[in-house]
Amino acid sequence: MKRRDFIYLVGASAGSVYAAMTALDLLKQPATARSKFELFGNSKGQKIVILGAGIAGMAAAYELEKVGYDCTILEARERAGGRCWTVRQGTVETEISSERQVACFNAGLYFNPGPARIPQHHITLDYCQELGVPIEVFTNVNEAAYYYNEGVGPLSNLRVRIREAKTDMRGYMTELLAKAIDQDALDLPLTTEDIEKMLEFLRREGNLSPDLFYKGSSRRGYRILPGAGLQPGEPYKPFDLKALIQSGFGNYFFFEYSINQQMMMFQPVGGMDRIAKAFENRVGNKITYQAEVKEIRKTPRGVRVIYTDKTGKRQQMTGDFCICTPD
Ligand SMILES: Cc1cc2nc3c(=O)[nH]c(=O)nc-3n(C[C@H](O)[C@H](O)[C@H](O)COP(=O)(O)OP(=O)(O)OC[C@H]3O[C@@H](n4cnc5c(N)ncnc54)[C@H](O)[C@@H]3O)c2cc1C
Repeated sequence: MKRRDFIYLVGASAGSVYAAMTALDLLKQPATARSKFELFGNSKGQKIVILGAGIAGMAAAYELEKVGYDCTILEARERAGGRCWTVRQGTVETEISSERQVACFNAGLYFNPGPARIPQHHITLDYCQELGVPIEVFTNVNEAAYYYNEGVGPLSNLRVRIREAKTDMRGYMTELLAKAIDQDALDLPLTTEDIEKMLEFLRREGNLSPDLFYKGSSRRGYRILPGAGLQPGEPYKPFDLKALIQSGFGNYFFFEYSINQQMMMFQPVGGMDRIAKAFENRVGNKITYQAEVKEIRKTPRGVRVIYTDKTGKRQQMTGDFCICTPD
């Protein structure tokens, strides 16, 4: 029985695939671009058919070729990169409906229709370093940008600065919590000292007044900007809490909290496809373009992949292993 079949059986019988693979010593090292992969088995003469020349397919070929496997990538499109794509002046895209479109952006402008940003912890950054792709900061949060909602309430159909909505909502929420704590209305085992510390935190977090009210804050911006000397400026008045709740703006705040959206975030200079191009520079000679895979068959020795070539003719390719990257 092959290891692959054994692992499949473990999974099918509700066993731990991870434990089985660890026991077989197949998970020696976590995947990091900087550390050399230590792959199992004898790679010499082993052929791997990789389906899809997106980032996953090309990264797989790049790593496997490093350790001696012979890889071929079958890609349905005329280009590599998959979803990692950038549209700029002259980019041609032909839809399934055969509608041919040519981007006529001004020179220097580009649009990433798929991935656009890279979190700090993504292995993608390691590959950028390894493949020499320059990166720059991606602005994922802009407090000066606007929210806009149709719907009900005084703030509907108005553009509202993100910093205004956030500052007010935070102010009102901290005020409510501070009052609840102050009136001993929370069922929490807090000591007097805990309560003092908590109130201090809420005062600062919401910019509350000493008597624990939110009365607006310069954090949300000024109607009249502060000037020199005795001109303190005049902050905008806060929105009404009920209007804010009706607007639903608060439902968007969480976006930037998730680990994959937190600043600092990064992007390749000049467009996301710089990463795809960098991989293509390394493994492009392994890619067969316009090869649309139709079937994957297991054989006694490995795998047989049936695809149509650019003329529409059916072809087949055999290998010891197959990596299938398309969804
Ligand atoms: C709108 C959008 C925004 C995103 N934003 C981010 C982001 O900001 N940051 C981030 O890290 N990730 C983001 N992602 C996710 C990221 O794009 C994907 O995780 C990544 O590009 C997937 O790469 P892949 O190689 O696995 O798949 P793909 O890029 O889909 O590559 C699959 C390849 O297989 C080919 N293929 C398909 N069918 C066949 C077939 N039958 N035969 C042969 N070839 C075939 C396709 O043409 C394609 O080239 C976003 C995705 C989308 C759609």
